Amino acid sequence: GRLAAEVAAAERAGADWIHVDVMDGRFVPNITIGPLVVKAVRQATRLTLDVHLMIEEPEKFIDEFAAAGAEVITVHAEACPHLHRTIAQIREAGEKLKPRRRIMAGVSLNPHTSLAALDYILPELDLVLVMSVNPGFGGQRFIPSALDKIADLRWMIEDQGLSVKIEVDGGVSLKTIGPLARAGAEVILCEQYGFLGGNATAALVNPFVSYYTQHHRRETPGAINFFPTDHGPGDPVISGVLADLVARLVRV
Ligand code: ZN
Repeated sequence: GRLAAEVAAAERAGADWIHVDVMDGRFVPNITIGPLVVKAVRQATRLTLDVHLMIEEPEKFIDEFAAAGAEVITVHAEACPHLHRTIAQIREAGEKLKPRRRIMAGVSLNPHTSLAALDYILPELDLVLVMSVNPGFGGQRFIPSALDKIADLRWMIEDQGLSVKIEVDGGVSLKTIGPLARAGAEVILCEQYGFLGGNATAALVNPFVSYYTQHHRRETPGAINFFPTDHGPGDPVISGVLADLVARLVRV
């Protein structure tokens, strides 16, 4: 269907990851997709499937999203009183699958959440997702303090000799990707409303691919975040299909 067409277009345009935003109507106001849609995306692409859980009590759903094909699972620090345990659970979810898969574990921070939330967990992580808008809606303006946060986080990661990826989610445009890349973000998202149709999706992804090919070939990834919102009754609400160009550019 439309979802598969969008994913295929993002893939053709050069994307390497597909990022899916999962919202529960509690942690964030919107309600979106569940494991069934993640499974549908999984069937539509061989790209890395990056699942961002903007939900309360994510520990109750990790196994389901792992079984649905998630290769990266990111939870919010603000939603996890037992974050260390939840991160361990993401790893274990991959171990329990047949065949076994290593699932990348990520933590996301809301715009106001301090990097201190990562102090005793950073070495356990594969990825930190810095929110550059308040989670829950597309189309918001980029919050500039995300740049300082990313620069500080990059320093923390390098100071500890870690290889944690930094991903940035929300309000990113072709104007902000340069500063974000210089600050140390490796996965940068740009969002777009609506199911665009394959050609428009490709047209959205292409400038990012070109930008990175020209300016950041060795340093950075880019990513596109789609917010298809024109769902009807009974349709799954798909929010945030993100195409991450990082892997592609690393391979170039
Ligand atoms: Zn997201």
